[in-house]
Amino acid sequence: MAAIWVYLETSPKGLTKASLEALGEARRLAGEGRVTAVLIGSGVGALAETAGYHGADAVLTADDAACADFNLDVHVHLMRRALDGTGADLLLMPVSIHTRELSARLAAALDAGLAPDCVGSEAVEGTVRWKRPIYAGKAFETVVPAGNPGIVTLRPNNFEAMAADAGRRAEVQPLDTAIDADRLRLEVREAVAAAADKVPLTEAAIIVSGGRGMKDPANFALIEKLAGTLSAAVGASRAVVDAGWRPHAEQVGQTGKTVSPVLYIACGISGAIQHLAGMSSSRTIVAVNKDPEAPIFKVADYGIVGDTLEVLPLLDEEFKKLLA
Ligand SMILES: Cc1cc2nc3c(=O)[nH]c(=O)nc-3n(C[C@H](O)[C@H](O)[C@H](O)COP(=O)(O)OP(=O)(O)OC[C@H]3O[C@@H](n4cnc5c(N)ncnc54)[C@H](O)[C@@H]3O)c2cc1C
Repeated sequence: MAAIWVYLETSPKGLTKASLEALGEARRLAGEGRVTAVLIGSGVGALAETAGYHGADAVLTADDAACADFNLDVHVHLMRRALDGTGADLLLMPVSIHTRELSARLAAALDAGLAPDCVGSEAVEGTVRWKRPIYAGKAFETVVPAGNPGIVTLRPNNFEAMAADAGRRAEVQPLDTAIDADRLRLEVREAVAAAADKVPLTEAAIIVSGGRGMKDPANFALIEKLAGTLSAAVGASRAVVDAGWRPHAEQVGQTGKTVSPVLYIACGISGAIQHLAGMSSSRTIVAVNKDPEAPIFKVADYGIVGDTLEVLPLLDEEFKKLLA
């Protein structure tokens, strides 16, 4: 494939893991073709080099204090400017709360096809076919987004990042960040940073999630303990979020976050379709539920029928031994 573009996201620690995975996938699909990355933010210029190590041939940087906080309008304008007249074949973006909106706005603006939430790809005779879950993960469809570029968002933990090669150099070019104020309809008044010590839910390789079967908010200490042992993030069902046991930021599902970790451990979660919508593309699912008929067991790779309050400490003990 001749020209693949990648929209990169950053965190205070650098390029996000999901961005590196998108770059890796772009590099793999491009073969001898060109991978161009776009970096928008404040103080992000230095990360262009890292993008080169991980597969970019060229990096356009919009590095401006005005881009410090994510403003959807700004990113739409800058991405359109970056892509204008390039005839790019594909634009890859890591799935995130921001790219959900950005990919849709760009697809509409560029009259391009959008394949969201992809978990796999296959190159067939010069065309890339993308695999994505549908019907809340009950089935998969294969799609080819039309347009120049066709736009694809990639779920974290499903694609391989390229190992850093410090010998790779990307050509770095600045992207003009000036936008007429009257073209911006959105203004960011305040951005509240998430606690920096926590593993972000959407990027976590392992998630330990709890539902109403945890019985009491205090029992989530057992989930947090296991999550700590596994360096995992904590997730929750909507039932416990609505009950005020856990913050909304931890909610997994249709009206919460979509996650696809390598390992998802669901404790005392029934497996309602709205919960499955957010986690069924996890690579390995372990369910702990005292009801052997609970729907979560239909999507689980491993099931433990038992009281989660008894099983969680045993799991923690066994994982501690394994990891010692
Ligand atoms: C429009 C809409 C959007 C929604 N969005 C979401 C969403 O984003 N995310 C989401 O999660 N839900 C969502 N829901 C709610 C969803 O339908 C379910 O109500 C919710 O997921 C149930 O949460 P739960 O599994 O924790 O609770 P329950 O359904 O009450 O299940 C509790 C489970 O725990 C088991 N259990 C009980 N005690 C124990 C024990 N001691 N040990 C082991 N197991 C035990 C029970 O057998 C049961 O299976 C949405 C609903 C609607 C209508």
